[in-house]
Amino acid sequence: MTTVEGIVLKERSVGEQDKFIDILTGESGVIEVSVKGARKINGKSGSSTQLLAYSRFCIDKRGKYLYLNSAEPIHIFYGLRDSLSKISLASYFAEIMRFCIKPEAQNGDIMRLLLNTLHYLENGQRDEKLLKSVFELRLMSEIGYMPDVVACRGCGVYEPAELYFCMESGGFYCADCFDNESSDNYMKIKLPVLSAVRHIVLADFSRLFNFRVSEEVQQKLSALTEMYALTHLERSFGTLDFYKTII
Ligand SMILES: [Zn+2]
Repeated sequence: MTTVEGIVLKERSVGEQDKFIDILTGESGVIEVSVKGARKINGKSGSSTQLLAYSRFCIDKRGKYLYLNSAEPIHIFYGLRDSLSKISLASYFAEIMRFCIKPEAQNGDIMRLLLNTLHYLENGQRDEKLLKSVFELRLMSEIGYMPDVVACRGCGVYEPAELYFCMESGGFYCADCFDNESSDNYMKIKLPVLSAVRHIVLADFSRLFNFRVSEEVQQKLSALTEMYALTHLERSFGTLDFYKTII
């Protein structure tokens, strides 16, 4: 029997009584665990296997399958369920995370990103749109799609007033160097948006959520981070489509 700490990213019912849960762990990627008699488990053990529960799981391995022996909640994020937009956004975070994480990978920072984002979403201390942008862009950076935000690819200027961010290559060109014949999808942005992008990509985890942007900057940032994630993941997400219908 082994013990792991993780966050439930998905639940699937099997038959009348059982379910499978996908758990994001820090050490071994996403694992699929069978929960026998899930419908009969109440109270502490029941809530600890719900979607988005952060729990300590005792797991038995039999053959290639994993079975839940017991579970104990660390934090359940009940506050997310008070608001349709919060729970919908959190469900999107879980879906995109489940798609991105490879089995058997070390994900300590990624798990921390999800836990911190859910923490701020639950307590309402950060704007939802800002949390979505931070989550999308930092996740992409952590899984190998870090944009190159240091300087203009043409002339090396560091702080152009206006610039063109290229979605596929993840770099940018200042207005003087930009060639609009390029086939890459691009977005025209101003320096404050670039500064926010730099912060999300480069900041230390302890400072990641400690910044504010104006409403105007947030609008552009939201469009940029979502397009960047969807461009590189090459798919859409049902949970994102739903979230966008209710905000
Ligand atoms: Zn340039």
